[in-house]
Amino acid sequence: MQLNIRDLASHSGQVRRIEQSDVGHLFQGESDVTRAEPLLIEVQAMTDSGVVDVSGTLTLPAEFVCSRCLCQYGQRLSIPFRERFTRDKNRSDADEDDLHVINEDVVDLTPYIEESVLLGLPYIPVCTPECKGLNPETGANLNIDPAAVPEARIDPRLAVLQQLLDKGKQ
Ligand SMILES: [Zn+2]
Repeated sequence: MQLNIRDLASHSGQVRRIEQSDVGHLFQGESDVTRAEPLLIEVQAMTDSGVVDVSGTLTLPAEFVCSRCLCQYGQRLSIPFRERFTRDKNRSDADEDDLHVINEDVVDLTPYIEESVLLGLPYIPVCTPECKGLNPETGANLNIDPAAVPEARIDPRLAVLQQLLDKGKQ
């Protein structure tokens, strides 16, 4: 996505952009992401005192592999986006290190958008926060077959009760 900073001035300093972009190439080395639909980019650019502030939301419907149960699940990621640009080299002082100094009138937002998408991916994807994962011995999916829970999972506080029950069976 290209943004012409000079054009901004002729739009009373504010412009909204909505665009779709194919970002599938970002996930070629990511085995956690099995499919990604086109990224929806919705941003607003505003210029104020020589600084262009671009902010908005990146929406990515994608399919991931759950790190616990290894099933595939779909999720619609909503990733906040914000970057600031200026053509004034004197503005790039230490307390504004998130401000990018550019030399051209046209900024290519693509690398910034792609970086935000990669940072917005789930670090450890899980299908649901309650996902029970797999039985480490049998590989059975515990979400589908809760009876496959290994015996070692008995709460130690209940272990005494379990012993009594076992005794009763004898
Ligand atoms: Zn899962």
